[in-house]
Amino acid sequence: MPERLVTVATFSRAMGAYLSKARLESEGIECFVVDEFTVTMNWLFSNAIGGVKLNVKESEAQRAAEILRQEPISTDSTEIGEDGLRCPKCDSPDVYYEKYSRRIFFASWLLLDVPFPFLKRKWRCRECGYEWKVR
Ligand SMILES: [Zn+2]
Repeated sequence: MPERLVTVATFSRAMGAYLSKARLESEGIECFVVDEFTVTMNWLFSNAIGGVKLNVKESEAQRAAEILRQEPISTDSTEIGEDGLRCPKCDSPDVYYEKYSRRIFFASWLLLDVPFPFLKRKWRCRECGYEWKVR
């Protein structure tokens, strides 16, 4: 019997829903974007129908909500360089965060019952692909 799906987040734009979907999937949570077609076709009325919904299995809803609450993803733009941060190699401003914690996340989650102690971020340059750590 299939598990019930619950909505953990709604978005006025499909882009926001897909960013969060990717984020949840990177944490191993299966999720589904609902109403995307309707909203894309009738974006003016997206509020009227409740926007784009991000659904997950009921058993994973709490974790999903925590992940989304922990690091809200902007629905209007991708995460690009803040504070004029530039690539140290090619000096491009087109840099973004990348998270490399999935394995560590699961290990700590299983072993320590603490999901988020070791999240590490890396910056990556879209221009040249260079990666570096900030602190
Ligand atoms: Zn670069």
